[in-house]
Amino acid sequence: MTKFETVIGLEIHAQLLTKTKLFCSCSTKFGNPPNSNICPICLGHPGVLPVLNKNVVEFAIMMGLAVNCSIREFSTFARKNYFYPDLPKGYQISQYDEPICENGYVFINSESGEKKIRILRIHMEEDAGKSIHDQGYGTLVDVNRCGVPLIEIVTEPDLNSPSEAFQYLNKIKQILTYLGICDGNMEEGSLRCDANISIRAMGETALGTKTEIKNMNSFRNVERALTYEIERQIDLVENGGKVIQQTLLWNADKNEAYPMRSKEEAHDYRYFPDPDLVKLHVNEKWKNEIKNNLPELPEAKFNRFLSDFNLPQYDAEVLTSSRELANYFEEVTLDTKDYKSASNWTMGEILKLSNELNLSPLELKLTPKKTARLIELINQNIISNKTARDIVPDLINSVKSPDEIIKAKNLIQISDDSFIIEIVNKVIDENPTEVKEYNNGKEKLIGFFVGKIMQLSKGKANPQIVNKILKESLLAKK
Ligand code: ADP
Ligand code: MG
Ligand code: ZN
Repeated sequence: MTKFETVIGLEIHAQLLTKTKLFCSCSTKFGNPPNSNICPICLGHPGVLPVLNKNVVEFAIMMGLAVNCSIREFSTFARKNYFYPDLPKGYQISQYDEPICENGYVFINSESGEKKIRILRIHMEEDAGKSIHDQGYGTLVDVNRCGVPLIEIVTEPDLNSPSEAFQYLNKIKQILTYLGICDGNMEEGSLRCDANISIRAMGETALGTKTEIKNMNSFRNVERALTYEIERQIDLVENGGKVIQQTLLWNADKNEAYPMRSKEEAHDYRYFPDPDLVKLHVNEKWKNEIKNNLPELPEAKFNRFLSDFNLPQYDAEVLTSSRELANYFEEVTLDTKDYKSASNWTMGEILKLSNELNLSPLELKLTPKKTARLIELINQNIISNKTARDIVPDLINSVKSPDEIIKAKNLIQISDDSFIIEIVNKVIDENPTEVKEYNNGKEKLIGFFVGKIMQLSKGKANPQIVNKILKESLLAKK
């Protein structure tokens, strides 16, 4: 039986976080009333002229530099002509044969280790509007999105499995959000992905006929859609059929992809350079300014976390998975030198709370300062680890400091020997059977005694001291 290799190339559209549109001063704000963020320019009225938004160019260059692209000194805007109700101009301004960024790459962690994924190009383009079919009035059109700036990031066909595609998407999202140029939200459409996919016999070098899947609105859906389509193509070829080049729409509810009506994809865009826009000139000086102002990128941060904080690889990876989480961690380390505990708290409680409450880590009332203080209180044996975790809800729901809370709730750990001896003796006296069994070798009963003691001390007895005194006292009963 033939063994097949999967070949995937992704086209990712990222909506840029500029205040205004690509060629006019209309707001890009999401959620304004339909057809309110519009003007004659983004509607393409006769005689208007587009004016390029400098911020968009800077964002595109930032992304290009972050993924090792060369930046074209001169790039061209082109008209992509097609008719659709949500495109009042009748064309989209995009870039065609002279895109701003070319020939980059990123590394992903694939099953077979680190793998280089080449990026063919990144170009700027304007978004189209939105047709809305589900409001019960036939089809409605909202053109607020017309002219909102996007970059399109196109890979070479270097991805060879759905999970590699997933890894790559994550990587791109991570870089975009580190740069602060896109919010990376696929569910809300600010990150969109079209997947091109083909199969070929293992060892074959020519590319097979590809299909393109659209309409996947989550990372998981991309993985699922690709898995579905690979199986479909292999099945087809194994049964003597041939893959035909077509565009498919993913249906997440049915877990299936359907061909678009062929009329909808019969495109001849008649690209030509937009006569209203001169060639865009990016000189070395501008490019270098942008390069020098790039924020620290995920890989650099990861390496720095390993060396500066002596963290395990796993920790550094989780902490740098998002810029906000990494920032939180670094702020904790301003107030405690116990970096491993800072990492544990950030990867554990903080990540969990930020997901549960849908807040960015630095928006939590449990601030880095408070987390650092908790770590110090534990390390100084003033509270137990358990107490620290128990008061997290208080820290999340109030602005009180850890010290105020443990004082108000009388939670300070007791390390005083005589107090602990008293409780230990009480527990030993009340449980003679267990004491006998323990001394006859049933050592796991130690947990039973500790539990009783902690209960009696309302969780305040210092566990290390409890353990020491308890073992001594039990031995004395032997
Ligand atoms: P189109 O003109 O249909 O958009 P392109 O050649 O511009 O096609 O490629 C679009 C994307 O599809 C790129 O990411 C590219 O790497 C990928 N691609 C091209 N050919 C194949 C193929 N045979 N199998 C899988 N992906 C492919
Ligand atoms: Mg395409
Ligand atoms: Zn406008």
